Amino acid sequence: MTCKDCDKNIGYDEHKNSMDSLGVELCSRHTKLIKRVILDNGTPIEAIQLFYALKEAGVNPMLEWWDGKKSVDIAISRVKLNIEIDTDYEMITHDQAINDLEQAMHSFKNGFTTIRIPHVVIKYYLLDTVKNIQGIIEGLRANIKMVG
Ligand SMILES: [Zn+2]
Repeated sequence: MTCKDCDKNIGYDEHKNSMDSLGVELCSRHTKLIKRVILDNGTPIEAIQLFYALKEAGVNPMLEWWDGKKSVDIAISRVKLNIEIDTDYEMITHDQAINDLEQAMHSFKNGFTTIRIPHVVIKYYLLDTVKNIQGIIEGLRANIKMVG
């Protein structure tokens, strides 16, 4: 068993502790670091799981990336893709919805693409989610090439 972040070998306790609390194999140092990130930003646990799944797939994701106004759950800077995880999708208010749309418009104007993923999708379809994001990255990369 190895830490998904630093590849360090981890023991049974470290493995159990990180799997129980985060659902990702991490050493005790990285479990602590990620818990700190969650405390500071209110990061959904599914964002952590998606972050490491993307990393494993060879994508270079950034966790809780500051875009100048707010912290984005996951960012893929190379193609200016922002990924937000929605935890209370069913309970979204109309205020929240128009805020989300406005933020999407602002980031789009700055050349960023924002996608919102309901947390349950990550919970039940993690690999499919990663595959789709990889497809989006490829599409964005093709567009960048055409413009540039
Ligand atoms: Zn580690």
